[in-house]
Amino acid sequence: MRAKICYDRVVNFRLEERETVYQRKLDLHVHTDNSPDGNHSAMFLCEQAEFEGMRAVALTDHCETDVYRAEHFDKRVQAAFMEATMAQSAFRGKVLVLRGIELGQPHYDVKTAEEILRTRPYDVVIGSVHNLRGRQDFYFMESFDPAEVHAILTEYFDEILQMLEWGNFDVLAHLTYPLRYFYAKSGITVDLADYKQQVDEILLRTAQLQKALEINTAGLRQPIGKLSPEFETVKRFRELGGKYVTYGSDAHYAEHIGAGLTEAYDVMRAAGFSELTFFQQRTPLQMPIE
Ligand SMILES: [Zn+2]
Ligand SMILES: [Zn+2]
Repeated sequence: MRAKICYDRVVNFRLEERETVYQRKLDLHVHTDNSPDGNHSAMFLCEQAEFEGMRAVALTDHCETDVYRAEHFDKRVQAAFMEATMAQSAFRGKVLVLRGIELGQPHYDVKTAEEILRTRPYDVVIGSVHNLRGRQDFYFMESFDPAEVHAILTEYFDEILQMLEWGNFDVLAHLTYPLRYFYAKSGITVDLADYKQQVDEILLRTAQLQKALEINTAGLRQPIGKLSPEFETVKRFRELGGKYVTYGSDAHYAEHIGAGLTEAYDVMRAAGFSELTFFQQRTPLQMPIE
């Protein structure tokens, strides 16, 4: 069984060896089984992170704010925070465990979002839009009509802007989220140049508000095979004054922790960033990219 093998290897792995090989590995976007689509416990994920030589891992379980009570995220969020706290304590001195949350659509129910953040001292808050108002997560949609893609994406980017105007988050997640599903479900590709004005506005506001732009690598493991966002967008973020970039595998399985990190670092460097940002107690901290 995988768990057993990992455990034995972690125990037998000498810390000094790992330190010399992996200096700069962090993963700021990881889901435990307290997310509806997560598969592994916080402890197991942290064990894997240690085995992979990660310096830090942020446990950022889903909280879909607009269905917070209807879909029982209230209980999940509480369990997620407690388990992250236990993992933080268990891995002290080995892996820095950051207590995070991925808030989906926080601006659809600001009162709930604020209440969630007021009651727990998170290290990092990821802001995401997974669904348009009153509609399903793009992940659950069966197919897309090419004639509707422009309107959907315009509305999606507008929602991202509104989430930025609300603003109580640290990391802007997977900016091109719908593109994965347009491609996977209906073979539709999108040229972001057609949305330049909106995307520029988002990048500019993200920079002005000193939030971090996430390079999310989940797309590399999906049919689209791309980072979210891609190099051009990361570069444009820097041109518009962006200071903070971060990396997240968006792992829902232990084996995906750290996936695509090299690709993300390459894009950051090529876009002119020399540091990666992570958050502790919601304060940005920067670390040189090797
Ligand atoms: Zn997400
Ligand atoms: Zn996620």
